[in-house]
Amino acid sequence: MRSMEVHKKILFALVLVFVLVVVPLVCFGLFYPKFRVENFQDTVTLNYKNSYQMASGNVCYGNVFDCHDVAVSQEGSVDTSKLGEYKITYQYTFQNKVYTKEQTVMVVDQEAPTLVINDEKLIYCPNGNMPAYSYTATDNYDGDLTDKVTVQLEDGQVLFSVVDSSGNRTFLRKDATALDESKPEIVLNGDSVVYVPLNGTYEELGASASDFCDGDLTNQIEITGDVDVTQAGEYQLTYSIIDSSGNESSVQRTVYVYRNNDYTAPSGKSIYLTFDDGPGPYTEKLLDVLKKYNVKATFFVTDQGLTKNYDSVILRAYQEGHTIGLHSNSHSYSIYTNMKTYFDDLYAIQAKVKRITGYTSTIIRFPGGSSNTISSGYDGGSRIMSQLALAVEAKGFRYFDWNISSGDAGETTDTNQIVKNVTSKLGSSSTYMVLQHDIKSYSVDAVEGIIQYGLANGYVFRPITMDTPTVHHHINN
Ligand code: ZN
Repeated sequence: MRSMEVHKKILFALVLVFVLVVVPLVCFGLFYPKFRVENFQDTVTLNYKNSYQMASGNVCYGNVFDCHDVAVSQEGSVDTSKLGEYKITYQYTFQNKVYTKEQTVMVVDQEAPTLVINDEKLIYCPNGNMPAYSYTATDNYDGDLTDKVTVQLEDGQVLFSVVDSSGNRTFLRKDATALDESKPEIVLNGDSVVYVPLNGTYEELGASASDFCDGDLTNQIEITGDVDVTQAGEYQLTYSIIDSSGNESSVQRTVYVYRNNDYTAPSGKSIYLTFDDGPGPYTEKLLDVLKKYNVKATFFVTDQGLTKNYDSVILRAYQEGHTIGLHSNSHSYSIYTNMKTYFDDLYAIQAKVKRITGYTSTIIRFPGGSSNTISSGYDGGSRIMSQLALAVEAKGFRYFDWNISSGDAGETTDTNQIVKNVTSKLGSSSTYMVLQHDIKSYSVDAVEGIIQYGLANGYVFRPITMDTPTVHHHINN
């Protein structure tokens, strides 16, 4: 009896559920279509540069057994080449009613940067300083991130780390060795070659030193060697340093203590500085340098006063004890046309020098030197240099060529090179005749270096006189 009543109640409940839930659902579904989109998600996360797939739509009449694919329109677009959030609206119109579904698309970068270490072996200073390692970091979205890489030393390993703008991080860890192989670097203050006059003062300017692992080591530089300014000669100073790992470096400075020039000294290795083609705008500066060292030189002059009058410079050179030699009045190679054209030109410059100084110069240098061949283009085949070499001597002149060319006639315009060109050719002979041109500033600037070197190495600078041993070239025309 009791169980009958329970069955009745259950049946009643089932009828009630059927009437109140199932019947309305079925009836409602029949008349009200439901818009569904296949594979639809409210939020879609899309990787940078991956393509966006549109979901397809269908409409169902209340139950899944009665669905039809329909054309679904879509509003909004996704640019997967730009990170960000995009809204897409799916739409379907049925019986003048618009059904919509909203979707949020997130374009994100989830790819971490690529980090490449180029160094095969990593080393670091025993004190923990790290050298600049070689590496590159690139990111699919941010591009080159090499300068964003952080480097850290930890338990004998170097940690490289880089994060892209979306927070994706790449770590690399590489074993490293504590090793200091780098030598300290020493830089001299002042020149590496210094000239000091006898009994003058040598001022020690010192040097600075730095080391990759130890940093500034300037105050640990040791200087060995002495300079005795009371003895002319060459002195070597050595600046040396040892870093905390035992790496050694040293540099040297050469100090020359030189005697002032004594051009009246009776014998010895002699240098005759000769200057052709002047005077010019740099000649006075040259005279100042010569005066400073008590050096007397020889000026083979031309009539360069066509635009500016340099008569006073010739006079000054003469009065200061230099030899005024004769080069050419016009310095045109057409003087080599014949004997008359040559001597007309020579006498013109001789007269000019005499007018300015009162001195009749008979010391000459042929334009182009006695070995020149350019004269053969003017002399009609008469071998004029062979004739002139004899003729000038017969008329009481002496001609001088040179045995050291400074190279200032076109090969170089570098002052240091000119100094080197000259000093490197100085040896133990007794007569060195140097060719320079005082109309070239870079050559005039080289004179002080040549003098300092010469004085420090036992040479005497002399002016050419009629008694000076001649230096003659081989005559080619
Ligand atoms: Zn010349």
